[in-house]
This record gives sequence, structure tokens and C-alpha cells, in this order.
Amino acid sequence: MAAVARQLEAQLKFYREIGVTEIGDSLPAAKPAVEAGFAVPAKISLVDAAPPEIHAARQEPMPKKKDAPGQAALFGDLEPTDETAPKARPLAVIHSQDPSLEAIREEIGECTRCKLHEHRTHIVYGEGDAQARLVFVGEGPGADEDATGRPFVGRAGQLLDKIIAAIGLKREQCYIANVVKCRPPGNRTPERDEIATCEQFLFRQLAFIKPQVIVALGSPAFQCLLRTKDTITRSRGEWRDWNGIKVMPTFHPAYLLRSPDKKREAWEDMKKVRDYLSTLGD
Ligand code: URA
Repeated sequence: MAAVARQLEAQLKFYREIGVTEIGDSLPAAKPAVEAGFAVPAKISLVDAAPPEIHAARQEPMPKKKDAPGQAALFGDLEPTDETAPKARPLAVIHSQDPSLEAIREEIGECTRCKLHEHRTHIVYGEGDAQARLVFVGEGPGADEDATGRPFVGRAGQLLDKIIAAIGLKREQCYIANVVKCRPPGNRTPERDEIATCEQFLFRQLAFIKPQVIVALGSPAFQCLLRTKDTITRSRGEWRDWNGIKVMPTFHPAYLLRSPDKKREAWEDMKKVRDYLSTLGD
């Protein structure tokens, strides 16, 4: 009972911090993606080229590799420069034959595809409802996630849990994953080759789940999904599209911990997500 009261108090404190005065109805429970009639192709194979209509708007380079990223760089904005910006790559089109999230996980195996495997303790694959209507995509595991093998379980994860609760959902109703599945040493920003190696698994997870909304948490997730060099600061709060799935870019919870004054903007973004999901009904 005391634990529940403490949890409630923490939740109310969060609402006060972000200026919430009234909380909307809880969202309806998750439902099978097929019923929702998503515009995502049913047959899926991961190819590296998008159809022209998807291509056109998305010929921007991937994020730059940071030269000396430190703790502060993780979850921060990336500002690619021309000399380091990668060549334009088209938005990945998802055509996956994957029968399940388990099959994708099996294919990852004890991955050694990139150098991130050298320092990791656990691969952090992602977790949640395989039929989630809402997927959160972060940047990459931190120390707590590396130790446990679960995404967003540290301080940023606790804030994410509060954000999810604030829109009337439970963490278990969502799916949570990252752009890279192994912790970058020292929590540095994942490098371009690491993202290029690992992102296919995220894309296939998303293609399998076919959520109604993807929330891109921070610049690396946003830039990876949308093939853009725009930062989250410039792009947050505006709906985007990833293979027919709506994407809401917003600040990473770790950034919100460092800059609590930004919570109000993040809340504005999350209200859009809540309101959009509630228009879709059951
Ligand atoms: N930050 C992320 O981007 N992902 C996690 O899983 C944890 C912290």
C-alpha cells in the first residue's frame, strides 16, 4: 500500500513538473495490427532502397560520427557537419518475412557484427507487447541496460515509465527498443558504422510489430529512422512518417533529466501521441 502511495506521489510530482493539470482517459488496450489497417506491407524483406514516393523527401545524410564523444554526448543532439556527414541513404523499406520477434532475436545471436560487442555484457534486444500500438525507440543501452539486458531500466527509463503513464498507458502495453543493441563504451553516441550494422534489426522489429505510432527519443533515433540530419530540437513535435507509420520525434528522457525545463515541450509531443491514438479507438 505504501509502495502504491509512493508511486502515485511520484507520478503526481511528474505531472506537476510538466504542467499537467488534467489527465485524459486511459487509452484502449492494444489490438492486433492487422485490424488497424496499417499501410505497412504485409510481406516483408529488408531492402536498402525505398520506393520513389518514399525516397523523394528522404535523401538526407545520416548523423555524423562524433570524434570524441563523452558521457555528455549520449542522448544529446547530434549536429552533423558536411565533412563527416555520411552519404545519403534511402529510407529502409520494411519487407520482412520474419515470423516473430523471437526469430529476429535468434538471428542476432551472440552478435559480433560490430565492435560494440567487445565491451557489452548483455545484448539489449527490446521488450514489450509484440502487438503494441506504440513503440519507443531510444539510442542505445546504458550501464543499467547492459547489466540487465533490458531497455530503459535506469533513471532515464524511470522517467520514460512516467511519461508512458502520463498518457494513460502501461509500459507493458508498449514496445521499447533501441537503435543499437549493445552499450557504446562510456555511453558515447553510437557511431555510424555501428548504427548501419544494427539498425536492420530495429527495422525488422518495427516491421513485425507494425505499431500505430513510433516515438523517436532523441536525435540518434530520429535521424536513424528518418534518414535525416535534422536534430530533435528542430524537429520535435511534428509528425513524420516511417513506412506508413506515424513517427513523433521528441526529447530523450536522459536529456529531460538534464534539462527539466524541456519536459513541458516533451509533454506537448506526448499529448499529440495520446490524442492520435485515442482517435483510432479499439
Ligand atoms: N537510453 C537509451 O537510449 N536506451 C536505453 O535503453 C537506455 C537509455
